[in-house]
Amino acid sequence: MTTPIETLEFQSEARQLLQLMIHSIYSNKDTFLRELVSNASDALDKLRLESYRDKDLDADTSDLHVTIETDPAERTLTVRDNGIGMTRDEVIALIGTIAKSGTADFLTKLKEAKDAAASQDLIGQFGVGFYASFMVADKVTLVTRRAGTTEGVRWESTGEGTYTIQEIEDAPQGTAVTLHLKPEDAEDHLYDYTSPAKIREIVKKYSDFITWPIRMTGEGEGEDAKAETVNSMKALWARSSSEVTEDEYHEFYKHVSHDWQDPLETIRLQAEGTFEYQALLFLPSRAPMDLFMRERKRGVQLYVKRVFIMDDCESLVPEYLRFVKGVVDAQDLSLNVSREILQQDRQIQLIRRRLVKKVLSTVKTMMTADAEKYATFWQEFGRAVKEGLLDDFENREAILEISSFASTQDAEKPTSLRAYVERMKDGQQHIYYMTGESRSAIENSPHMEAFRAKGYEVLVLTDPIDEMWVDAVPGFDGKQFQSIAKGQVDLESDEDKKATEVAREQQKKDFESLLTWMATALGDTVKEVRLSSRLTTSPACIVGDTHDLTPTLEKMYRAMGQELPPIKRILELNPEHALVTGLREAHASRPDDEGLAETAELLYGMALLAEGGELADPSRFIRLLAGRLEKTL
Ligand code: ADP
Repeated sequence: MTTPIETLEFQSEARQLLQLMIHSIYSNKDTFLRELVSNASDALDKLRLESYRDKDLDADTSDLHVTIETDPAERTLTVRDNGIGMTRDEVIALIGTIAKSGTADFLTKLKEAKDAAASQDLIGQFGVGFYASFMVADKVTLVTRRAGTTEGVRWESTGEGTYTIQEIEDAPQGTAVTLHLKPEDAEDHLYDYTSPAKIREIVKKYSDFITWPIRMTGEGEGEDAKAETVNSMKALWARSSSEVTEDEYHEFYKHVSHDWQDPLETIRLQAEGTFEYQALLFLPSRAPMDLFMRERKRGVQLYVKRVFIMDDCESLVPEYLRFVKGVVDAQDLSLNVSREILQQDRQIQLIRRRLVKKVLSTVKTMMTADAEKYATFWQEFGRAVKEGLLDDFENREAILEISSFASTQDAEKPTSLRAYVERMKDGQQHIYYMTGESRSAIENSPHMEAFRAKGYEVLVLTDPIDEMWVDAVPGFDGKQFQSIAKGQVDLESDEDKKATEVAREQQKKDFESLLTWMATALGDTVKEVRLSSRLTTSPACIVGDTHDLTPTLEKMYRAMGQELPPIKRILELNPEHALVTGLREAHASRPDDEGLAETAELLYGMALLAEGGELADPSRFIRLLAGRLEKTL
């Protein structure tokens, strides 16, 4: 039954995106066809799969294919498939809205983008799918019928805020998208999308590997002309690598990933014998916007004997490699496998282990073979990869091996752990690091003083994940990780120690009574007061006990709603600092002076501020400080 035409509004994000497409700031307009053919091919995959699973599905799967028709007189181009199709509700949900996570972010960034190049870059990163049609068309008509149903749907829009939708009779199974091409492109043969030669060229370039036939009717010969298949239809991963060009790999990557940019690296993997499979994987050159969002998907598709089985197959890659895109084609699985079965499947687990090792070893090779490429990789995906230090026990060493970290050695360039270890000073036992919210907070923290003075390199760890893995990972290459803001540090060589032993003993005696008194005076805030060997210029600093949570981690847990007992830390005093020696003398001569307790409190507050911490009662701190300053005037 044909229903009246209804007019509906696009979701606001969709509207904004369409505006961009209409005013086409993306220079490579040809890509619209890649998107339409890619959608058509996905629709054929989905129908084939559904008909395997549902034997009663009333659908024709005898000749699944894509057809492209051009009509120079009407200036239209139609991409048609006889695949899964869409119901009315699906058209509204899938075409009228953008469900992609990260859309809001993307649109904000786009608004902030300074110039056309920056905007293009962003669009390339986001990928716009079906909406790319509006780069070349001023009106798009979509007619579709969901396989297994009888009602068709006709959708039409000029991309300007609204679309019409109507249920119709007699729609063929699948989807036909007709573009009414913009008149301004008519003169320009570069953009003449009614020219079969031009279309053939674009299909060859962007969609050759599509495993379904893409047919075109012969040039100018009317409706009876024999349709000719224009793509080679060979699954790229099944061809020998010497036959496939880099461009072909790149276009295939764009098809599977919906990314518009070239990948950073292509990885091929083949296994023969009793359990045969091929994998073609890619490392993207940019992190997707939803890399750290909860609903993000993993990027590897599963095929069984060339038949598409599922997207984002989580059994094939661990969470920390969720950015890896591509396909795995296994020969010996049943076409009926479900996600649940896959999780248990031993062969899948073996493939997964091999994929992980291959990805990690590829990155390792990249580190030496192409440092710049590696730097890009790490910049984009390092934060995700480090999650593997917590999850993937088996590959922990390999992950550490490909990780790099900011360091005090070179402000510009992160270092690998291997390089750090090679630079370690004679007698240095540990890999030193400090975690914190920013590089400057860490570098300016008092904890750093003695390390700097003695020339020890310290890793500067500012990602939230760093707080977690440093506690979980014991060491690298036999060297333990040691926080410079936790526990005791001992930077003196054995010789120095001997020389200063007597002096140290004396110092301990001298300060004993001050330390005991301060520990009581500050008892509510600190668990211990002791002398420090990590300070040169600051009077005091605060350190954590070896196994205590760091302040950042404490904050993170509290933000997540976890109940924690208050965590007290340790106040360390610099025995060489005039403020500390002065306080000791004052305490010795006037033990009952109440003002001294306030000085102790100020000292603690200063140490807290110096590491970038927050005072519990800033107004009290200021009052005390102002009181002291007044007396100096
Ligand atoms: P993407 O392909 O990146 O998901 P699109 O905007 O191109 O985004 O398409 C949105 C959705 O609309 C697709 O995911 C698919 O579910 C549906 N769709 C698009 N084209 C077709 C088609 N030819 N047949 C069936 N469904 C389609």
